[in-house]
Formats: sequence, structure tokens, C-alpha cells
Amino acid sequence: MDRTRLHALLARESAEAERRNPRSRAAYADAGHLFGRVPMTWMNKTAGAFPRYLASARGARVTDVDGQRYIDFCLGDTGAMAGHSPAPVTEAVQRRFAELGGATAMLPTEDAEWVGAELTRRFGLARWSFSLTATDANRWAIRLARAVTGRPKILVNSYSYHGSVDESLIVVGPDGKGAPRPGNVGAPCDVTLTSRVAEFNDLDQLARELAHGDVAAVLMEPALTNIGIVLPEPGYLAGVRALTRQYGTLLVNDETHTFSAGPGGCTAAWGLEPDLLTIGKAIGGGIPAGAYGLSADLAERLLARADLDLVDMGGVGGTLAGNALSVAATRATLEHVLTDEAFAHMDRLSARFETGVRSAVQEHGLPWSVSRLGARTEYRFADPAPRTGTASEAAADPELEDFLHLYLANRGILLTPFHNMALMCPDTTEQDVDTHTAVFGAALLELAG
Ligand code: PMP
Repeated sequence: MDRTRLHALLARESAEAERRNPRSRAAYADAGHLFGRVPMTWMNKTAGAFPRYLASARGARVTDVDGQRYIDFCLGDTGAMAGHSPAPVTEAVQRRFAELGGATAMLPTEDAEWVGAELTRRFGLARWSFSLTATDANRWAIRLARAVTGRPKILVNSYSYHGSVDESLIVVGPDGKGAPRPGNVGAPCDVTLTSRVAEFNDLDQLARELAHGDVAAVLMEPALTNIGIVLPEPGYLAGVRALTRQYGTLLVNDETHTFSAGPGGCTAAWGLEPDLLTIGKAIGGGIPAGAYGLSADLAERLLARADLDLVDMGGVGGTLAGNALSVAATRATLEHVLTDEAFAHMDRLSARFETGVRSAVQEHGLPWSVSRLGARTEYRFADPAPRTGTASEAAADPELEDFLHLYLANRGILLTPFHNMALMCPDTTEQDVDTHTAVFGAALLELAG
């Protein structure tokens, strides 16, 4: 990569973003009362000097306050995998909130059992409980796993992401031992007191860590999706299940992103048998919702424990969790939007996207790899594709990423700011994918000079 050329292109695209988006730029400059000038500090993770401000969004389209329109492959980093404001969810939300009311009445609705049954049909786990975010689903799953096993530690894969869960902010350090994830903000204690870590695709390391006998649960994505897509090698996931059973450790599959693999995520697609499963974001169709599922046996054992306060302040739950609005939105999303047919369409488009990107990369002889997990495709600046989170982290190239993101955004295409990820929703079209392929090809041509 010619860095001088890349810097010049990046400067050109930054200037173009300023020219195209004066109102977004001014709004950002005026946002002095916000911590970091944004509603949430991660919104500063954007290519260029300021974020584009949202005006409206529908299906696979976003319009910003400057009137620029985008094909949205970011889809809220999966929160909008159902498309923005899909009609069935809009109707369900309007009915629940405006007509019936009672979003926070602290009373159950009949929709919840429908959703529980549907989640069981899709993912296999027998009992379900709700949260508002995937982070909380993970937090509560971890607490339950500790309670039922009586063990203190949680094991995650290096450079995985499971939300702002204290236990998960651990990586494999240069000496091969667990170390705090770089940048961890205000850790409550040394993370190695609460956690163990292994590289994805490394069963030997996992076996060594589990052999200590102090791990309550392995919390993992069946494929890493937050450090590029890192796919499991043949036999790895079966090995994880065998080892967790051997050492009496529970297995929690976090399907928040890997839901892209199909209607029942990787768990159904690959016949996995986790003890617990967590999910968030997409299932609410744009309304905050999350859930965790557990096996019938685990649920019974937990409910039989008189010492666990599961109904008041014992540490599992939130006032708004399972609220009528979130549950109604989740039902509408699963019943009418993210259906089996929708996934088939999304998978087909994602394969088309993958082919387009791969051909362009090959045409330019770039040492990049492309990985796909159903409706989600991502390219990484390494070939062959990294097989661990740490290797994938090392393949990051922030300048190159910024250039590609800005180049695409200036031509009406949004990718997830955190990586080179493109997600399909039920409203994405072949034309959208082909537009991306053409613009991506043009970007590579510019890079080649
Ligand atoms: N789990 C996974 C796999 C995720 O990718 C994320 C967010 N990117 C989370 C959990 C946390 O989701 P949220 O921020 O909505 O709580």
C-alpha cells in the first residue's frame, strides 16, 4: 500500500465529506453539552472529522440531515438487520404504545409466551427471559452460570466482544497469558481474577484453561464477528462442547451478531447445543430488546434454589426488561420480518456481495480476505483470513479503513463504522449490492493509482 497516496486520498475524501455535509458538521460543532459531542461516545468512531446526522431511515435506506441518501449496509451494526422501521414492527409498536398503552406497566403480556415459543423453535433452548440489550442478557447469563456452578470465572475468546461486560474485557497478552483488553475503562478489579481467555480456534489453550476447574461458563460467539469475521475451523465448535462438558463448564452462545447465519443463528445452522444462549439488537426490529435462553434442566435447578433472589434485587433483571413494547416489537419482527424466507433472500444477496468484493480484491491482487456468515460479509486486510481474534486484530489498518468508509459514504453507501462489515436486510436489493461492488471497485482502482 502506497501510504503517501493513501493519505492524499483520505484528505481528499475528508474534504469532500465536509463539502457534502455542512449541516452535520455544524450540528457536531454545536453539540457542546454532550460528552464527546455525541449522544454516546462510540458515535465518535466515524471516518472523517464528524458523524453524519440522521434525518430518517426506512428499510435499507438512510437519509442524513444534509439530504444525502445512503444504501445502508451498516444497519445499526445489526440492530436494524430487520431493516429500518419495518411495517409490521411499526404497526405493532403503534398499537402497543398508542392504542393499548402500558409499555411500562410491570405486567406480563401474552406476546411474551409467543416469543418464547418462537425462540425455542429457532434456537432449541427451552426457557427464555428478556432484557433490553445483549450486554444485559450476557451479564445475567453469567450470573446464573456462576450461581448454578458455584465457580467464579468466565472464559471468553481473545478479542471477542460481548458488550460492556466486565468479565469479557480480557485478551491473550504477548506472553500468552490473560491480560486486560487495551483501553478498558475503569475496570472494577484485575480482570484475571474474574476471567480466563483462550484464542478462538485453539482447543489446546481452551483445555488448559478449563482444567483449572474454576470456569463457570464459556461465553462465546460461534464465529467471531467483532474483530472481522473469524470462522470456526472444522471440529472446533464440537471440541468446545466436548471440553466444556468434560470440565463441568456451561456453554453460552452469544448469537447477537451470528444471528445473521440464519433464522436460528449458528446454533440451528450448525446443530450446536449450548446450555445458555444470549441475543439482542436485531430481534426487536429497532426497539431495544434482548433475551437469554436456558435449558429446561438449568432453569429448574435455578428456580429450585431458595437462596437465589431471582424476583427482587438479587442482580438479575431490570425494570424495563420484558416490557410490553419491546416484547410486541420482538414478536412482530420474528413473526413477520426476520422470517425463514427473509433469511434466504439476505443470504443470497450476501453471497452476491461476497463475490463482488472478492473479484475486485483478486483483480487488484490485494492480500485481503473475505469472510461471510449468512447475511453478513466482511473483508480483512490479511490473506489467508486470520484464524484467531488476536491475529485478526493485528490485521487492522485504521487509515485504510477510514479511506474506504469515507469513499463509500461520499458515494451513498454506509458500512458499519467498527469494521468493514456489510449486512443485508429483507429490503436490500441486488441493485444495492451491485452499486456497492461498482463503488468498491472504483475505490480500489484509486488506491492502485
Ligand atoms: N454481544 C455481541 C456479540 C455484540 O456484537 C454486541 C454489540 N456489538 C453485544 C453483545 C452488546 O450489544 P449491546 O451493545 O446492544 O448491549
